[in-house]
Amino acid sequence: MPPDHGTSDGNRLSVVVVGGGIAGLATAWYLEKASRQSGTDLSIVLVERENSLGGKISTLNEDGFIVEGGPDGFLTRKPWAFELANELGIADDVVYMQATGASLLSKGELHRIPAGLMGPAPASRKDVWDASFLSWRGKLRASLEPLVRKRKAGGRESLGGFLRRRMGAEFTDTLLEPLTAGIYGSDSYDMSLDALFPMLGEWEQRYGSITRGMREARKAARGAEQAPSAFFSLKGGTHRLVQAVAEGLERTEVVSGRTAVGVDRIGNAAPPYRVTLDDERSFEGDAVVLAAPAQDAGNLVGSFAPGLAGLLGRMQSASAVSVSLAFRCENVAHPLDGSGFLSPRSEQGPVAGCTWMSSKWPGRSPQDYVLLRVFMRTETDASTGDSDADLIDAATEALRPLLGITGAPERTWVYRSADGLPQYKVDHTEWLESVDRELDAHPGLFLCGASYRGVGVPDCIRQGRDAAERVHAFAHRGAAQATSV
Ligand SMILES: Cc1cc2nc3c(=O)[nH]c(=O)nc-3n(C[C@H](O)[C@H](O)[C@H](O)COP(=O)(O)OP(=O)(O)OC[C@H]3O[C@@H](n4cnc5c(N)ncnc54)[C@H](O)[C@@H]3O)c2cc1C
Repeated sequence: MPPDHGTSDGNRLSVVVVGGGIAGLATAWYLEKASRQSGTDLSIVLVERENSLGGKISTLNEDGFIVEGGPDGFLTRKPWAFELANELGIADDVVYMQATGASLLSKGELHRIPAGLMGPAPASRKDVWDASFLSWRGKLRASLEPLVRKRKAGGRESLGGFLRRRMGAEFTDTLLEPLTAGIYGSDSYDMSLDALFPMLGEWEQRYGSITRGMREARKAARGAEQAPSAFFSLKGGTHRLVQAVAEGLERTEVVSGRTAVGVDRIGNAAPPYRVTLDDERSFEGDAVVLAAPAQDAGNLVGSFAPGLAGLLGRMQSASAVSVSLAFRCENVAHPLDGSGFLSPRSEQGPVAGCTWMSSKWPGRSPQDYVLLRVFMRTETDASTGDSDADLIDAATEALRPLLGITGAPERTWVYRSADGLPQYKVDHTEWLESVDRELDAHPGLFLCGASYRGVGVPDCIRQGRDAAERVHAFAHRGAAQATSV
């Protein structure tokens, strides 16, 4: 194992960050912040393959429409995105989700989801009995959840398997599956319970019931200061956050439109790493932070860390395809009173859900228009197969009877992301532990981003901030060792 020598001089630090999505940008931002506080002479090079920064975060402002290609809002409960917006001085641009409530498609009709059923566990039995999309058997089974025995056997359980065991098949497959699969773009029976919703397992063990756990969590939150809404965004769209970070960077050289093609370990000399780009330029660094998706990161480190490369290459992603449609208000009969609807797999059809963007957020379309964002079922549209025109047609025709739509959309936008959402499989926690063990052998090499410890933007920001802290700790450990000999 190479010695953990850190940098040769804790007051000088060169870092190469690969990936200019929000995790890489947050890394650069928090590295700069820490170096201002510690007086470190810092230089950062941030390499981004695309010509623009932001990765999955992409917003188009066009003729009064604000169209999102990736995220449209950030969870308020996870404070890191709000804290970053505040530090960047754009807190005045924050807008809160203005719509309340969402619907579920069941047997071809939209049903309102009771407010207490919008989380991964019901807030009360009453909410379960109020769900018009469940049969009485489904309601009875779900309301018996507190009587279901705790699981004793060890071993990992999938999110879907856990929910089905506690809540019953109908409740899980009708509501919880689309709620969770909608966020993570995959089958909940393949997803890791402990990586995605660790509190559910804890509630089962502590209270013997996830319904009770949810009630206790709500009770505990009651005293705390409440944000105006569960989600927030920014006036110009989510990309405003990216733009603000990019504008705020002072010691970072951004190299965009260039792909990093390899990372080499030069030896135990400082700086120990060299990152080579596709134009044959290279940058040396005391530390390298790979903030690209795990598969891309794995492709870079094979020369000196084949074990790590193999592990990272195992990460799979689900593609994400969304179609945004603008209609004149008079062509949509539905009041669009909520944030949108979800469609469970049993409904079939090409649409997994629809967000009513102009209801959900202020200022997303001109006044006489509504803006709808349709999430396509990627297993049916095979993101690369269908043409944009086919996707637009399929989305429009699926919405037409549900929302009383007449005529054709006046504006349309299609977004495809082949590696949209990393899949936290049932063994994700063990995978992370193995990745961490491999990383221990390569001091100065760090990973962060959606592939690892949370896919949402706030979690990616937190991971970038943590990576920055670890880089600083590593650099100063090296300086301390150098002065102690
Ligand atoms: C359709 C969709 C909707 C979403 N909705 C929400 C939401 O509403 N709220 C929410 O919080 N989250 C949402 N997410 C998730 C969230 O947007 C992402 O998980 C997050 O933005 C990922 O950030 P990241 O920096 O980790 O990765 P990315 O954004 O993927 O950034 C990684 C960057 O690395 C670059 N890169 C890769 N390889 C190389 C290389 N070799 N050299 C140079 N550059 C390289 C890529 O070009 C990319 O820009 C959504 C995601 C999608 C796809």
